[in-house]
Amino acid sequence: MTHPASILLTGGAGYIGSHTFVALAQAGFTPVILDDFSTSNRAVLNRLQRITSQPVLCQQGSVADRVLVHDLMQRHSIAAVIHFAGFKAVGESVAQPLKYYDNNLGGMMALLRAMERTPCRTLVFSSSATVYGDPASLPITENFPRSHTNPYGHTKLVCEDMLAAVRESNPAWRTGVLRYFNPTGAHPSGLIGEDPTGLPNNLMPYVTQVAVGKRPFLNIYGQDYATPDGTGVRDYIHIQDLAQAHVAAVQALLKGADSFTVNVGIGQGHSVLDVVRAFEQASGKPVPYRFAARRAGDVAQCYADASLAKRLLNWHATHTLAAMCADAWRWQSNNPDGYANEPASV
Ligand code: UDP
Repeated sequence: MTHPASILLTGGAGYIGSHTFVALAQAGFTPVILDDFSTSNRAVLNRLQRITSQPVLCQQGSVADRVLVHDLMQRHSIAAVIHFAGFKAVGESVAQPLKYYDNNLGGMMALLRAMERTPCRTLVFSSSATVYGDPASLPITENFPRSHTNPYGHTKLVCEDMLAAVRESNPAWRTGVLRYFNPTGAHPSGLIGEDPTGLPNNLMPYVTQVAVGKRPFLNIYGQDYATPDGTGVRDYIHIQDLAQAHVAAVQALLKGADSFTVNVGIGQGHSVLDVVRAFEQASGKPVPYRFAARRAGDVAQCYADASLAKRLLNWHATHTLAAMCADAWRWQSNNPDGYANEPASV
């Protein structure tokens, strides 16, 4: 019997990392978490153990700590790395750009340096549809020109370029760049989900907090966009589908596939009002809202052409907006305060 491949998940205790942990474990891999818990909660580890019924391998520490990363990779004979660790709040990146350049670029740099000292040259990177800026047309294909409107987006773009340069320097590197659209929803168990610190920036966690009574109403930023109902349109994708995309990416690279950059979305846009209505239907709770001014930097519409991921990875999204809302609601209503107040032993 061959040993299950060990996969290092930097930022593996976060929203996308934790769901990917479960998907990898269920696909027969041995996921190993490295997380500094700066924007995640140790309590997620208990939940992961409950879902997977197996011990959770986790090292607390920073991806910027080259020695630690190298030792961890050697100790677990890591076959591939998925690099989730990074800051992601657009507004904060504008206010504190150096925090973002330091963490997101410094983290990637240190990780690549640590990997260089191991036999592992296989890396999946969490990129974002933000690299498309304001797209000239829709749906967005991977060859659209890239741009950025804030330091967060800039870090994603530069990380993509860093990977291109290391591939160029040494063809042994195999990288999978996943450009996420709008991840949402939660594991159907209701045990893990999105747990933003402070005021949520993203739509779905804000909606769920309104529905559970933590916030009085939703601000809908803009009602006069050139979209069917005037509100912003995005490609919302269930976190379970996104997690599966990582499994497909790792499997392809470990089987020897060439490096790739793919959109990870459902290939369909939903407006803010579509989300509000679908959520009300799924939860049975009203979501009061008020229209507010457009949010600076927002684009009217953004949705993927998701056909390349289907072609290259044989992956496509299967969950509907209704399922995203139902699962987001199960998580939020079972855990009104997220992971807070949960004992954190594993
Ligand atoms: N949005 C909103 N109210 C909120 C948060 C977001 O109306 O409290 C809108 C936002 O203007 C955009 C959509 O919801 O049209 C998705 O925003 P999110 O921040 O979740 O994703 P992104 O804009 O990064 O794609």
